[in-house]
Amino acid sequence: NRKLLMIPGPIEFEPEVLRAMGMATTSHVAPNFIEIFGKSLEMMREVWLAPNGQPFIVAGTGTLAMDMAAANLIEKGDNALVISTGYFGERFKDILDRYGANTTILEAPVGEVVSIDAIENELRSKPYKVLTMTHVDTSTGVLVDPEPIAQLAKKYNVLSILDGVCSVAGEKIKQEEWGVDVVLTGSQKAIGVPPGLALLVASQKAMEVWKNRKTPVSSYYSDWNNWLPIMKAYEERRPSYFGTPAVNLIVALEASLKIICAEKIANRIERHRNLAEAFRAGIKALNLETLPKTEKITANTLTAIYYPKGIDGAEIRSKIANYDVIIAGGLLTEMKASYFRIGHMGSVSSSDLVAVLSALEMALLELGHSFESGKGLQAFQDTLLKYK
Ligand code: PMP
Repeated sequence: NRKLLMIPGPIEFEPEVLRAMGMATTSHVAPNFIEIFGKSLEMMREVWLAPNGQPFIVAGTGTLAMDMAAANLIEKGDNALVISTGYFGERFKDILDRYGANTTILEAPVGEVVSIDAIENELRSKPYKVLTMTHVDTSTGVLVDPEPIAQLAKKYNVLSILDGVCSVAGEKIKQEEWGVDVVLTGSQKAIGVPPGLALLVASQKAMEVWKNRKTPVSSYYSDWNNWLPIMKAYEERRPSYFGTPAVNLIVALEASLKIICAEKIANRIERHRNLAEAFRAGIKALNLETLPKTEKITANTLTAIYYPKGIDGAEIRSKIANYDVIIAGGLLTEMKASYFRIGHMGSVSSSDLVAVLSALEMALLELGHSFESGKGLQAFQDTLLKYK
């Protein structure tokens, strides 16, 4: 039977997006596809709030978007600073190192963020070329506030890169107003398209820094020299070719961006915030604890929750699956077995979260966790009613 996919990506996609994806594949230079590609680039600027940014749409995963940012902005020996709130901070360090960066990583304890003072101290200590931050680290559910960090980056003349894989179109992002130089994501998260597209928007400053490189970009596939003319051509509605675009995924992307722009990005962010807050109220009412230490640094696109003591995690997940909801286990290597994650982004609705809370309650009751049946659902409803 049909199960609800509530992991932090891939997510449940809008039927309209899936229908768009299933249309007959056209040539990548067919006039209708050129129009769809061009429109998608334009709508990305709207979603990213980066009217002067340079968008890129390339076949690949979110990791490719990280790779592109590093490959194009790093030259051997450049200093890079990674502000890490979990698993994906470490990945960024690996990628930056691969392109020859001299990378320093500031790691927050699990469930916390790195303080602004610690970041400023580090930026003061040597000339950095770039810094990276993970908006929502999907391994911990911790939310970072990018604005003050981007401002610090500006103050020290450092390029700022935001890993927004688990946040773009789900958490507030004002790329241009905040002065973030690269905001990147993958298609399968809050942007609401099946996996397979790497998406990023680069600031004019980032493009300038890239243009003024002294050495060639060492990755062939990630090199903006190959992709920038393609993005420009599609935006000017001209045919072009470097690598065959993922035609069906881009048709789906356009469908999803249209849905996002029709909802309006501010409304979408508010929907994520209200649903996430109500969901957390439900989780707390079940005597469960989340990884992030405070509300302020808790993501609205997913929730990471400790298993109750004495209850086997795999058993909870399989019982929840029996109630037709799929959730994810932990991702942090050293504590995989101690927590689980529930994604609630994109087209997520209150009825999805009612289903999750109900399945979770039933699984926990079966396993002998103590709370009053219905408490989680009640707290969820009471919180949502506040917004009416
Ligand atoms: N960064 C973050 C914050 C992510 O959540 C993910 C995917 N879970 C990635 C990067 C990597 O994306 P992908 O799996 O699409 O390569």
